[in-house]
Amino acid sequence: MRINCPYCGNRDVAEFSSMGEEHSTRPDPQQPDAETAFVDYIYLRDNPAGPNNELWYHGQGCRQWLRVSRNTLSHEILSVSLAAGGEHNGK
Ligand SMILES: [Zn+2]
Repeated sequence: MRINCPYCGNRDVAEFSSMGEEHSTRPDPQQPDAETAFVDYIYLRDNPAGPNNELWYHGQGCRQWLRVSRNTLSHEILSVSLAAGGEHNGK
């Protein structure tokens, strides 16, 4: 599998570290069920079969965080963008 990094170009996946599914928002620590919400936020994953948004870190390249949309069945990379913003065609 290869990932087309917006800065470095098309690189082998061995240069990247997967940080798992992209989360929604961090729970509010003041909410009444905060403990349960944080356990869900930290440990529970949807693990969908199909397109999934993930965070990857290009540790052996530009050291940028990337938002990668990947089909978990075919491992096809659907899109790659910088996690801090911006879009990039992942093919
Ligand atoms: Zn890179």
